[in-house]
Amino acid sequence: MHTSQSAVAPAAGNEMIDRKTILITGGAGFLGSHLCERLLGEGHHVICVDNYFTGRKENIEHLMGHARFEMLRHDVTFPLYVEVDEIYNLASPASPIHYQHDPVQTTKTNVHGAINMLGLAKRLKCRIFQASTSEVYGDPAMHPQREDYWGNVNPIGPRSCYDEGKRCAETLFFDYHRQHALDIKVARIFNTYGPRMHPRDGRVVSNFIVHALTGEPITIYGDGSQTRSFCYVDDLIEGCLRLMNSPDPVTGPINLGNPSEFTIQELAELVIEVTGSKSTFTYLPLPKDDPTRRQPDISLARQHLRWAPTVALRDGLKLTIDYFDRMLSIGTRGVRFEVARATSVSRFTR
Ligand code: NAD
Ligand code: UDP
Ligand code: UDP
Repeated sequence: MHTSQSAVAPAAGNEMIDRKTILITGGAGFLGSHLCERLLGEGHHVICVDNYFTGRKENIEHLMGHARFEMLRHDVTFPLYVEVDEIYNLASPASPIHYQHDPVQTTKTNVHGAINMLGLAKRLKCRIFQASTSEVYGDPAMHPQREDYWGNVNPIGPRSCYDEGKRCAETLFFDYHRQHALDIKVARIFNTYGPRMHPRDGRVVSNFIVHALTGEPITIYGDGSQTRSFCYVDDLIEGCLRLMNSPDPVTGPINLGNPSEFTIQELAELVIEVTGSKSTFTYLPLPKDDPTRRQPDISLARQHLRWAPTVALRDGLKLTIDYFDRMLSIGTRGVRFEVARATSVSRFTR
C-alpha cells in the first residue's frame, strides 16, 4: 500500500487513527459528498474528483476551505495520476434521466472509468471500492435479490448503458482481483435517498418531495404498484465504510440497502402525510424496462459487516423534506425546481 502521505493523527476523543489519503470519484455528487464529509470527519485527507456532470459545487462548497480536502475537476474516462492510499469509485450518473441523457458517455464512464481507476489502484497497490448497483439484477426474477442471483437485464434497452456498464465494471473489478491480486470491494447499492439529492434528477423521492412542497401533482409512473426499498444516506455511507474496512477476503459483491419494501403508491402517500401537502396524484406511463420490484437480501452485509440500516423511511423522509424545504425557501443558486419527468427521457433518446 502507498504510504508516503500516511501519518498518525489524533482524532476527536484523543484516540489515534491511521490517516490516509483517499480518492473519491464522483465526490461532488449526492453520495460522494456525504462520503467526503464522513472521511474528512474521520481525520483522512480526501481528494475529490468530479466532472460536475450531475454533481454540484454546492454539495462540497462547505468542504472547500478544509486543509485536508482537495477538489480536482476531471473526467474519469481519461487517465488519472495521483498518489493515494485508497480509492472509492462513485463516478457515474445514477438517475435514469441523467444516465439516459448521453448513454454512450454513461457506458464510457462506467467502463473506461473503471479501467482507469483499476489501473491507478494496480500501480499504487491500493484498495479500491466500486459503487455498483441493484440495477445489475435488472427486472429481477428472484425476490428479494441475493448476491448469487445473476440478474435479468435487457442488454439493448434504454437502461442498458447503466445496467450493463455497471455489470462490465464488476467484471473488470473481479478480473483485476484474479489477474493482478488487486484488493477490491464491490457494493451493490439499492435506492438511496437523503439531503443533497439533485432536486431535478427525476428520482422518485426527490420528485415526490418537490411536488408535495410546491403543491404540484405527484407524478406516479404506471399504477404505482412497482416496489422499491429506500435506504437513508447515512446508513448507506456507514455500510460503504464497513465494507471498505473489512478484511481482505471480503470482496463482495455485497448488497447495501434497506430491506423494507414499499410500493411507489405507498411512498407517495407517505410523502403527502409527512409534508401535510394538498398535492393530488397524477398517473403517467411507466418508463420502458422499469423494474417491477426490488428488495435487497442483506444477509451477507449483516454477517460480514455487522451492518443493517437503522433509519426508518418516515424518519429519513422527514430529514430529506427539511432539506428540500430549506432549499426551496432560500432558492438554490442556479437550480430551478422544475421537476424532471420520465417523458423527457424519450426526447433525449429519440
Ligand atoms: P450523482 O449523480 O449525485 O453522483 C455521481 C457523480 O459522478 C456526480 O457528481 C457526477 O458529476 C460524477 N460523474 C459522472 N460522470 C463522471 C465522469 N465521467 N468523471 C467524473 N465524474 C463523473 O449520483 P449518486 O446517487 O451520488 O450515485 C453515486 C454512485 O452510486 C454512482 O456510481 C451510482 O451508480 C451509485 N449508486 C447510487 C444509488 C442511489 O440510489 N443513489 C443506487 C445505486 C448505485
Ligand atoms: N491508469 C491511470 N492511472 C495510473 C495507472 C493507470 O489512469 O496511475 C490508467 C491507464 O490509462 C491505463 C489503465 O489505467 O490504460 C489501465 O491500467 P493497466 O495498468 O491495467 O493497463 P495498461 O496500462 O497495461 O493498459
Ligand atoms: N417514479 C415515479 N414517479 C417519479 C419518478 C419515478 O413513479 O416521478 C418511479 C419509477 O418509475 C420507478 C421508481 O419510481 O418505478 C423508482 O424510480 P427512480 O428513478 O427513483 O429509481 P430506479 O428506477 O432506478 O429504481
